[in-house]
Amino acid sequence: MNILVIGSGGRENAIALAVKKSPLCTNLISAPGNPGMERLGKCIPVDVSNPNAIADLAEKEKIDLTIVGPEVPLVNGVIDEFRKRGLRAFGPVKGAAALEGSKAFSKNFMKKYGIPTAAYETFTDLNAALEFLKAHPAPIVVKASGLAAGKGAVVCMTDAEAIAAVEEMLGDKAVFGESGKTVVIEEFMEGEEASLFAVCDGKDYVLLSSAQDHKRVFDGDKGPNTGGMGAYTPAPVVTDEILATVKSQIIEPTLRGMIAEGSPYTGVLYVGIMVTKNGPKVVEYNCRLGDPECQVVLPAYDGDVLALFDAAEKGELKNFNAPKAPKGSAAIVVIASEGYPGAYQKGKEISGIEDAEAIGAMVVHAGTKMQNGKLVTAGGRVLGVVGVGKDLQAALDKAYEGCAKIHFDGAFFRKDIGQKGLAKCKK
Ligand code: ATP
Repeated sequence: MNILVIGSGGRENAIALAVKKSPLCTNLISAPGNPGMERLGKCIPVDVSNPNAIADLAEKEKIDLTIVGPEVPLVNGVIDEFRKRGLRAFGPVKGAAALEGSKAFSKNFMKKYGIPTAAYETFTDLNAALEFLKAHPAPIVVKASGLAAGKGAVVCMTDAEAIAAVEEMLGDKAVFGESGKTVVIEEFMEGEEASLFAVCDGKDYVLLSSAQDHKRVFDGDKGPNTGGMGAYTPAPVVTDEILATVKSQIIEPTLRGMIAEGSPYTGVLYVGIMVTKNGPKVVEYNCRLGDPECQVVLPAYDGDVLALFDAAEKGELKNFNAPKAPKGSAAIVVIASEGYPGAYQKGKEISGIEDAEAIGAMVVHAGTKMQNGKLVTAGGRVLGVVGVGKDLQAALDKAYEGCAKIHFDGAFFRKDIGQKGLAKCKK
């Protein structure tokens, strides 16, 4: 098959690596891709926010299956455009991607179909939201309804923070623009978070292994939030009992609900859960694989990822022979530029990737570029180093061994990825 992967981050590099391993893949193109993806096949520039441009590219390159990494093209309707043209692409249609694209939609959806989540109210009027806050003291969570690149949720531990968040979104400043003109205010949930990924074909699904990521920039979950500094799979907090509840109370009702809403869910359904003392509750849905969780759940999948996505796109998961368990554990440690998630320098020369790969670590590119024939840093999160092993300790050892080989000016990474998981394994 001639495969096109859309996107340019660590997630898409991991998708491309997994697809390239498949005997079904005869040719791989990435658009726009990155230096890591360039090593796997041709990269072609494309405007990922433009469904027409992506579909034109797939037609021109005679692509058999397009795999869409990021949420923006999905929320903009790229799958609908492909279907209109009789082209095949893996991902949810616009109506289904609204589970991520609009928190107002997803919260109403969960209420309608009885899916456990935090209690909430939706607001477009500043005064009404402020009145609501008077009756609902902190801790409380204020969220912009639309896409906000992971920055639109404010967990408020004081009333003053909640008032400030609502004023920023619904007041004159409108810091999230259109995305924040509708605001969801919801109950604060206490517990441990985990991520689940269901590969769906509209009716049936295959669950990938559970994962946990590390959002804060420094060890001990200190410092500001980031796009993710590391992750591991499986997540011991997701016990068999919790998994059974997630399937029966969250994933299956979600698939049935989307059929009832007229937009059956095909693609990866990402469910972020909070494991509370009353069981798992949905924090958020995403309509695609998570970054950096994707970089661990795909290498841990004990089968052919392309065959799985292909069967899902065709609606053929009912009889799909999915592996019963992941191949051991996987962990990713993200190497970032000094200063991230604040201001950081770019253009620092990177060395040691081959050495990391030589000891069996997998290296994915997130913020790199080629400059005058040299690989240099081009983003906050620069590289992800992935280890796969028989258990979490072995996976972490491999990832950290890989990290030790890689160098650039100002490189840093967290030293405690997976510790929470390890502590649970030892219990
Ligand atoms: P992203 O896509 O980056 O995960 P987002 O903007 O879509 O972010 P959410 O995932 O809804 O926002 O929330 C971001 C984070 O805020 C969650 O991962 C969680 O840590 C915290 N959070 C969100 N909702 C709640 C809640 N009701 N109770 C406690 N914490 C919450």
